[in-house]
Formats: sequence, structure tokens, C-alpha cells
Amino acid sequence: MDSPQTPMCSAKGCRADARWVLVWNNPKLHTPDRRKTWAACEEHREHLSQFLGVRGFLKEVVALADWTPDTEAS
Ligand SMILES: [Zn+2]
Repeated sequence: MDSPQTPMCSAKGCRADARWVLVWNNPKLHTPDRRKTWAACEEHREHLSQFLGVRGFLKEVVALADWTPDTEAS
């Protein structure tokens, strides 16, 4: 098994180690304080950010090294 410390990129079919955490919220499904996260590699950060961004879901993009999941992650 791979090291559990490094999450894999959330992009479909991508198995690269994640470098970024995309924090998002879908107001139709989630309460405003709820935070969902996607992991993204260097290559897919832009693609995934745009996917969430055009829907108005994206809250912030944080470098994985700086990411501290202090709120509940699911
Ligand atoms: Zn990727």
C-alpha cells in the first residue's frame, strides 16, 4: 500500500501525489460552514479549481504543506 500521509490527486484517473488542497462548498448540499476538500497534483490544480470555480463552489486553494485539517474533513 502507498503511504497514507500523501493523499492522491482527486482528478479522474490521476494517481499522482497531491500538492494542493482545494476547499469547497456546494450551497445546495452543504450548510455554509461546511467544507469539502479535494486533493490536487500540480498538473490538475488549475483544472479542478476551474471546475469548482465556475460553479461558485471554490473557497480557497491551499498548499498541501500548509494544510491543517482543523475542521472536520470528510
Ligand atoms: Zn492529478
